Amino acid sequence: MQPSRPVTRLVDGFGRRFHYLRLSITEVCNFRCAYCLPDGFKKTTPLSFLTPDEIERLTRAFARLGVAKVRLTGGEPTVRRDIGEIIARVAGTPGVSKVAMTTNGWNLRRHVAGWRAAGLTNLNVSIDTLDPASFAAITGHDRLGDVLAGVDAALALDMPAVKINAVLLKEVSGEGFDRFAEFVRERPIAVRFIELMRTGDNADYFAANHLSGKVLQDWLEARGWIARTRAFDDGPAVEFEHPDYLGRIGLIAPYGAGFCDSCNRLRVTARGKLRLCLFGEGGIELRDLLDRNEPDALATRVLAALAGKASGHRLVDGDFGDTRQLAQLGG
Ligand code: SAM
Ligand code: SF4
Repeated sequence: MQPSRPVTRLVDGFGRRFHYLRLSITEVCNFRCAYCLPDGFKKTTPLSFLTPDEIERLTRAFARLGVAKVRLTGGEPTVRRDIGEIIARVAGTPGVSKVAMTTNGWNLRRHVAGWRAAGLTNLNVSIDTLDPASFAAITGHDRLGDVLAGVDAALALDMPAVKINAVLLKEVSGEGFDRFAEFVRERPIAVRFIELMRTGDNADYFAANHLSGKVLQDWLEARGWIARTRAFDDGPAVEFEHPDYLGRIGLIAPYGAGFCDSCNRLRVTARGKLRLCLFGEGGIELRDLLDRNEPDALATRVLAALAGKASGHRLVDGDFGDTRQLAQLGG
């Protein structure tokens, strides 16, 4: 049975309902993914990210509007020393039933039990390839073994959901798909491939490595994988299952037709700006209201902005807004 749809006041002009907030808590990252921060994070402005108090106020205000799921992202959210406290504050917010985090997994093995105890319910670990040399080449860190040990540590806990995010890259197709399928044969885990997206900084990498999601879809269907029925909060991912495999393989195809029709998420940057779309421009300042603790004014500002949310991104026209890389906003 599908879970019931939570009530939300966050509805846009196209009738889309938003019960999911992606909150970036830092722009800093310790990895150098080739499509995101190939030269590593460079500090260009003072690092003034939302504090745990601001995060708690923000989460409360969004929860009052109907947000039930909050994902912590970045940059790399786990480079923050207060990540455990942040998880606990978000998890303790009335109305929030899911606290999710997307991480590159560098310190997962050591900390995942503590994060689970603090209230983390959904964990996404980014692993683009299961080939150690290729992982090192993509991320700049020869740490695939550590990250996978962290995934297994998470699976050994009673975490409601552990998933892997993989960017769909030309070099990982074919044999790379075989490796991921083998990985999920005995593990109850979803590996979700997301099509590489063009951003301001990755033109050359995108041109060399973008692969259409259709390639993976054809690969899966040719091997008997079947798309499963989607739950209301699945967002734009389509997941495939197979009777011989415990895990699932998913596809998120932002360049596919109708991708934005099921948009269910709002974003807030690490500096407290509301972003209505990953590939939009600018953002709506919320931090002044957080500092003064004015949840009603914040709700009014968010609802007014949401009324102007565009029907979809314009990536196919080569318009990626002012997004230079996803570390800037949280993917
Ligand atoms: N550092 C964390 C991580 O990598 O999991 C969280 C932030 S990262 C920006 C969030 C997700 O966005 C990761 O799964 C990453 O692989 C993905 N990502 C980054 N740049 C991307 C791009 N240009 N196209 C598609 N996915 C991208
Ligand atoms: Fe860092 Fe995540 Fe970007 Fe990789 S994708 S550079 S881990 S923010």
